[in-house]
Amino acid sequence: MFIDSKKILPDSEPILREKAISVSVPLSDENKEILQAMLEYVRNSQDEKFCEEYNVRPSVGIAAPQIGVSRQMIAVSIKDEDDQALEFALANPIIIANSTKKTYLENGESCLSVPTDVEGVVLRYHRITVRAYNLLTDKVEEIKLKGYPAIVMQHEIDHLKGILYYDRINKINPWHKPEDAISI
Ligand code: ZN
Repeated sequence: MFIDSKKILPDSEPILREKAISVSVPLSDENKEILQAMLEYVRNSQDEKFCEEYNVRPSVGIAAPQIGVSRQMIAVSIKDEDDQALEFALANPIIIANSTKKTYLENGESCLSVPTDVEGVVLRYHRITVRAYNLLTDKVEEIKLKGYPAIVMQHEIDHLKGILYYDRINKINPWHKPEDAISI
């Protein structure tokens, strides 16, 4: 299975506002194939040549509803602080613990489903623990993340709840940066 960039739905599609349904684990062959293709899409989107050739926007994560599949699956591919690849292909992820400390990306967030970036601070938990089935290890795991990886994970999990990043931007003062939140 190959995901074409034309398959990425824009935020005007109602499915992006729905709650995705949980999937049974171990994954069915169909769900495995979808989730693997999602991870492949994110990996490929970090290759400049590939992006040019297939008209793909660079990304670090994707959620199944963004390709029209309202199921609780997300794929993430990022580099950690030591430039090591940090990848997840998760089913039924839930945040089971979070810090009170908040964090945000200095320049705001963006999303494959939001064609024009909406500017503003998106406050996220600085630390989270996620419980999910990880296709890459074939196990249910508790994953602890902080900082940038935690932000990406929260962005993708939000998609499964029908939430888009700009929902979290302060409407009156989009660039208000709380003093006690960590800027990244
Ligand atoms: Zn997104």
